[in-house]
Parts: sequence; structure tokens; C-alpha cells
Amino acid sequence: MIAIKNATLVMKDHLIPDAVLFIENGLIADFGEMRTTPIPEGCEVVDAEGLYVGPGLVDIHSHAGGSVRFNEDPVAAAKGHLVAGTTSVLATLGYRHLTHEYVDYIQKIRELMKKPEGANIAGIYMEGPYINPNFGSLRHLNPWTGAIVPEDYVPFVQAGGEDVRVWALGPEREGIEDFVKYVHAYNPKAKFTVAHSEASPQQIEKLMPYGLCIGTHHTNATGDRPMYPECRGVCVDEAVNYNSDIYAELISDSMGIHVDPYMQRLIRRIKGDERIILISDQTAHNTPNPAGFEHVDDLNFTFTAEGGIDISGSKLTLNLACRNYMKHTGASIVDAFRVASYNPAKVVGLTDRGEIRKGLRADLVITDHRMNIKSVILKGEFTK
Ligand SMILES: [Zn+2]
Repeated sequence: MIAIKNATLVMKDHLIPDAVLFIENGLIADFGEMRTTPIPEGCEVVDAEGLYVGPGLVDIHSHAGGSVRFNEDPVAAAKGHLVAGTTSVLATLGYRHLTHEYVDYIQKIRELMKKPEGANIAGIYMEGPYINPNFGSLRHLNPWTGAIVPEDYVPFVQAGGEDVRVWALGPEREGIEDFVKYVHAYNPKAKFTVAHSEASPQQIEKLMPYGLCIGTHHTNATGDRPMYPECRGVCVDEAVNYNSDIYAELISDSMGIHVDPYMQRLIRRIKGDERIILISDQTAHNTPNPAGFEHVDDLNFTFTAEGGIDISGSKLTLNLACRNYMKHTGASIVDAFRVASYNPAKVVGLTDRGEIRKGLRADLVITDHRMNIKSVILKGEFTK
């Protein structure tokens, strides 16, 4: 048994300072205040020196890790997340691949999930292919502009089995309901998100009975639907804000470029820490930063069809997103762990992790108050 002593435990809604936590057989065996919880003889004792011990971070939306894409080198990508405290990540595939490529990537990732070096890959997030092709970086390269037909999607839906936990889509796409019904029948646990979209609230709400419960990178790559010039319309952002059953993914970069700090505070006020999911949306591009952004080190950019430069995901890991979220919104470290571990694990059905609770998987991080990750524990093993 391992005992982590002198820990400040980060619980779902409070802290336990001066605590000890026990790990046995890869699980959280017990925990409590040190003054009332003696450490049994024979324990391997680790001193957390007063630092925070929280649940491992859960990143449900990331295309890359360590600046390497999951579809190109999933081992390196998984490792890039693990060293930063992400003990569960959904390898995310974008909307530019063809059916046979999706099948190939999905199979490779699922194989890796069975091996030790893929132990922190918890599944797959399909950001597409049926988003609205008018939204998103590199949209001119999106091949999925035609009709939605089973010949295209059945192969990759079946290749994913139950490991594809999230499907992102534009509810306004013609024929999307048949696709959603097919996926839902094939894997009832799968969740859907509204993504890269200018759907009406009604089009979005129509899919909620099938499991639509997330807004992908909230307020990014979404449209507006004005009824009259100069009058604000209601569209995706409003539907995500309005429906308390819909979780809002949030990219919190250091400068608040994806989501302005004021907007982050507004979203936090509307959705609360119970309905926000921090994501990294990490990508990997070799495009130089555009003028005015030379000093930004946590964003990614790509070229547009016209030769301009467009923002395209981030270089974030979830510990950094937590740091930024605390900075921009005033959230506490308890709140940060909630939106970066408990909420995402819960939404995608990872019921064996996401908080410090007896019997859950011992996926843990030891961190300072700025989310500098000192140690990472995956299934009870120290990996850092
Ligand atoms: Zn996106």
C-alpha cells in the first residue's frame, strides 16, 4: 500500500488539508485527516509536502499531445498529456479525413488503448465529419460537404465500437437525424455535441433526447441568426447557455484569445462550475504566429484559403488551462479540478474516475497552486 502524506486533498467541493491518502491495487483505498488517520506499518510513504493532491485531469477534446497529432503518433501524443497530469484523454479526430482514414486511425488508437503506453487514452472524440463546413479552420479542405449517407458513416461508426464516446456535429445538416439515430442505436452511451454550427436552438434541442449534451468549444466556430439587421439573433451559443442540461466546453488560453476573459466570466456565471468542461483542443501545426501574436506560446495557427492566418486550436495541456481559468474567472483550485476532471469524466461516462473517492481508480496529480504538476499517478503507479 502507498500512503501519500502531508497532502491537501482536492475534493469535488472542498479541501481536506493535512491529509493522507492510501492507494492499493491501483485504487483509492482510503483517505482522511492525518490527525485521525494513522499510517499502517509497512506502507510506502510519499510526502506531498503540503501540496495539492487532486484527481487526474480528464481532457475530452484534444487532437494532439506534445505537439504531435493522435492520428500520426498516438503514443507520443498520449505521453505529452500524461506528463502534464492528464490521466484520461479522448484522442480527437477532426473533419478532414476520409472514411477509410477514420477507420484506420480509430483501429490504431483502439489497439493502443489496450497497451500500457496508451493507458491514459480513454476513448475517441470525433469532431466531425458532419459539422457545418462553413465553420472552422482549414474549412476549405473539408471534404464532407455532400449528402450524409450510411455508406460513408457505417464503417467508421462500427470501427469505433463503444470507444467513440463523443460525436460532434452541426444539427442543421440535412440528414443528420438519421445519422444520430443510427449512432444512438449502435452505441446508446455515445454523446453528441453541437459543433462548428449555426443551428437554431430548436434544431439543437431536437437532438437532446438522443444524447446531445455538450457545446463544443463554446462560443468558438459558431454562427449568429439575426432576425433583423442590428438585432442579435439566437443561435448555438444561446442554446448552450439556455439549456442547463448542456455542458459548455471551454478553451481557456493564457491571453483569453479563444474566449475573452470577460466572456469566460459570463459563461461561468451562466453555466456555473457544474456545467463547464475545460478542454485543451491541442493541435499541431507548423504555421508561424501572425503579426501581433509573436509572443503567444499556447495557440496554434493555420493558413486560410486566401493565404491569411487563422487560429486553429492550442498548444495547451489541461493543467495550463486550469491555471488560465483560475486567472481569468477567479475560480478556486477546487473549481478548476471540477471543470477539468469531475465534469468531463462524468459527461463521457468514465464513472470510475474524476474525483477522490474510495474505490475509484487512483488517477491522481500532485500539484502546486499554479498547477505546476509535480507527480502524476496513473492507476496507482507513479509515472512522474
Ligand atoms: Zn473545433
